[in-house]
Amino acid sequence: RRQKRLGSCWRELQMKPVIRLSEKIRELSKEFESVKIMHLCGTHEDTITKYNLRSLLPENISLLSGPGCPVCITPDEDIQMVMHLLEKENITLATFGDMARVPFQGKSLFTLRAEGYDIRIVYSIFDSLKLAESSDRPVVHFAIGFETTMPSTAIALLDEKENFYVFSAHRFFIPAVHALCENTTVDAFINPGHVSTIIGVKPYREILKKYGIPQVIAGFEPEDVMLAIYLLLEAMSDGRREVINEYSRAVKEEGNVRALEAMDRVFRKEDWSWRGLGVVKGSGGALAKRFEQFDARKVFEDAFADFQPVEDKSKRLCRCGDVLKGIATPKDCPLFMKACNPRNPVGACMVSVEGTCNIWATSGTSR
Ligand code: SF4
Repeated sequence: RRQKRLGSCWRELQMKPVIRLSEKIRELSKEFESVKIMHLCGTHEDTITKYNLRSLLPENISLLSGPGCPVCITPDEDIQMVMHLLEKENITLATFGDMARVPFQGKSLFTLRAEGYDIRIVYSIFDSLKLAESSDRPVVHFAIGFETTMPSTAIALLDEKENFYVFSAHRFFIPAVHALCENTTVDAFINPGHVSTIIGVKPYREILKKYGIPQVIAGFEPEDVMLAIYLLLEAMSDGRREVINEYSRAVKEEGNVRALEAMDRVFRKEDWSWRGLGVVKGSGGALAKRFEQFDARKVFEDAFADFQPVEDKSKRLCRCGDVLKGIATPKDCPLFMKACNPRNPVGACMVSVEGTCNIWATSGTSR
């Protein structure tokens, strides 16, 4: 009981600056008819929903979620390709747990494991490397994620490896923000803290230059998010169009130079598809030619010779793609907390802990 009391005291103390910021936001918001702010990170959605920050904002300030969840934006075609590879080749597939739960045509990598396929759940690519040392089958790591996980994949591939391959489904983040900006009514962005620790501030300045959309790079505490909203409104009220780095305790102007160099050596950019956004120019993290001997898409290209992507008709009503573009909320989906729930997810946004549908469902926002 004492622990619980301490917990609630701590929460109250933590919320004090948040409440003060919400009062300042309310005051500033009177200058605007309406402002749409989109955040670009699943962890921001988690903070916003868990601390119920939307309820602290005035009605004319809306907070939308964007394509910030790596599992959610990975299109069905990649999952279908990995399943196809398992059927054709005697491999061990190493994958992150969330990715293994994304359904495709009534199956998932977890259900395939129950059918006898050798599928291992790993926490990082380095677990997969260890597996490859002792496995008598080729180990294929299903690599997903933005610039946050790409450096690990790059480092894992920079040394010579045996029996180890990567099926890269990595996506570069900034091209997707450009794609969003081409066709959006959003007034401002809250940029993702984790990705920004790697890429730095500069790429956002190019977005600002091209589209004039103000942005704040924000951390993940509730006060970070509220401060980001306040800073955006303040800048807009002063007529300043800027990229503000609120998360300067972790994000440097130039980003993580060593990680960027490693990524530069290992990846090349291709035009790959995103769930919700379609094909995004230069967003695909394909392996560079020099690393072709580790590239599962190349090494097992015979297995893909008869591969035909198909649409998963069971997801016809799923609005995950719209949720990722901020044009729908989970509650706009007719399946939310009915046919689709955390125990029985229909779409990727309900599977991943960074998915908006999952966060709303597990935080009770459905009620
Ligand atoms: Fe898709 Fe489920 Fe979200 Fe609906 S609730 S959009 S079916 S993931």
